[in-house]
Amino acid sequence: MEIDYSNIKVIGFDADDTLWVNETYFRDAEEEFASLLEGYETKNKIDQELFKMEIKNLNLYGYGVKGFMLSMIEAALDLSNKKVSNETMEAILNIGKHMITRPVELLDDVEDVLKELSKKYRLIVLTKGDLLDQERKVEMSNLSEYFHHVEVLSDKKETNYQNLLDHLEIDVNEFLMIGNSLRSDVLPLVNLGAKAIHVPFHTTWEHETVTDNDTKGKDYQTIGRLSELLKLV
Ligand SMILES: [Mg+2]
Repeated sequence: MEIDYSNIKVIGFDADDTLWVNETYFRDAEEEFASLLEGYETKNKIDQELFKMEIKNLNLYGYGVKGFMLSMIEAALDLSNKKVSNETMEAILNIGKHMITRPVELLDDVEDVLKELSKKYRLIVLTKGDLLDQERKVEMSNLSEYFHHVEVLSDKKETNYQNLLDHLEIDVNEFLMIGNSLRSDVLPLVNLGAKAIHVPFHTTWEHETVTDNDTKGKDYQTIGRLSELLKLV
């Protein structure tokens, strides 16, 4: 089905795993965490417990590396029956600090696509996570010049998007969102009556996955790489 993008005036971009690599760093961190605690449980069990802890803590800490660090610490205490050493605690903190200081690795074609689109559209970044960490990544990405606005949201539900569009006085019919997460970047916008395009990343956090039922009858396109956008809008 053809989707008409001719009335689009503003394009919103998700940042993590849409503009730059992120989820891969979490997978690396989970591997490191599991190897630190391998004396207490199987890797599978450690992965599961950490994920459960993250989800349990989401409404307290929100998304991002700092909340992830606190969940690793809490999971380590649980998995070790509070026997985990101070050295292991320090190593866990260092996993998180390393994540926060990793260089920003842009995905393919990002700068060319933004440069081209910024001639014709108002571009904004809509991301969730730790404010300071996301601001650092925007700064280090050298992409700031292409964006009119950067917003770090506490969550990416319909109400978060609606409030932001109202605040920035963007008409929902004139808004297109681009992102790697169906759950966070695509479905809420489609439900609001905006347009959205899905650009999958090779790895998706379990919490971001959706079922066929969630996407059934929803009108959005999926592209294999960001540069395909230039042929659509
Ligand atoms: Mg993302």
